[in-house]
Amino acid sequence: MIAQGPRVAHLEDQYRAATGTKHAVAVNSGTAALIASLHVLEFEPGDEVITTPFTFAATLNAILRAGLTARFADIGPDFNMDPEMMAPLVNDRTRVILPVHLYGLPADMDPIMAVARERGLRVVEDAAQAIGASYRNRPAGSFDIGCFSMYATKNITTGEGGVVTTDDDAIADRLRVFRNQGMRSRYEYVATGENLRLTDVQASIGIPQMDRLEAITASRRANAAQLTAALDGLPGLVVPTEPHDRHHAYHQYTIRITEEAPVTRDELIAALAAAGIGSGVYYPRVVWDYEIYQNHPLVTRTDDVIEAHRAAREVLSLPVHPLLTPEQVDAVAKAVADAFAAR
Ligand SMILES: *Cc1c(COP(=O)(O)O)cnc(C)c1O
Repeated sequence: MIAQGPRVAHLEDQYRAATGTKHAVAVNSGTAALIASLHVLEFEPGDEVITTPFTFAATLNAILRAGLTARFADIGPDFNMDPEMMAPLVNDRTRVILPVHLYGLPADMDPIMAVARERGLRVVEDAAQAIGASYRNRPAGSFDIGCFSMYATKNITTGEGGVVTTDDDAIADRLRVFRNQGMRSRYEYVATGENLRLTDVQASIGIPQMDRLEAITASRRANAAQLTAALDGLPGLVVPTEPHDRHHAYHQYTIRITEEAPVTRDELIAALAAAGIGSGVYYPRVVWDYEIYQNHPLVTRTDDVIEAHRAAREVLSLPVHPLLTPEQVDAVAKAVADAFAAR
């Protein structure tokens, strides 16, 4: 077995255990997880999804691929969709709320779930960056339909890969059928489908990482704590927040370089690069702010996303991965502090 076989089933068991859900369905990417989830929910043209404007293009592309209309609610200081901005956007065509747990920090799920319950909406979590994270002791991906990525850069990686987690038997069944050409058993076609299968080769790479998920997350959290202790208080620099009821998986450790900082973001990036330290801007623009989405009929643009635009100008992610030594984390923090002091 080198295609989908027992190793994939084992990895699915690990995702079920990690998220506490009844089902986990592995697919070949996080994008596929999102597209398949929206597909099997069986919506009609004109149906709408409310999501965040501050995310990776895959979130929006999946919505558009499923033929759904995207609306955007501004973010809060946690970089995630603000439930108070989201609630007024719900209308008669709204079917799904799609929060993204950006950088590995869960969105504020209780008010989101309350709106979903009240208005009869499904919730698809883009948990691509959030394996190992939790909200009020509930794992990310366990609220309704959770979509994980195992892309090369993610906390758990199989090179490419994705997983959908849910307690919903019917959704899990439709996902398993859809990922395998619409077959329930051999040559018994019950739906139109695709080939979204993960392979046992990929699963074999993910399984030992999932065995160490707690240690991997703990290491990222320790690195983040060390960075925050060193960086908190630099003028105009905002360290990442972790509300007391949320467990951050620190897929990214993301600071803000505000206008009050003595260096610009570009200057800091250059200073870090000169010190041999990589950094990244995730993401430089709000998700629809590209030519391709400009006049897209399914993209509902809005000016009411001021915080998302501000974040796009200010964010910078620093190294936080589990292979860093404490000395290397110190060197990262020192390089940032030096760049601030040089001005
Ligand atoms: C990585 C990512 C995806 C897509 O996952 P792939 O496995 O790359 O297809 C979707 N949403 C977010 C927020 C991501 O970071």
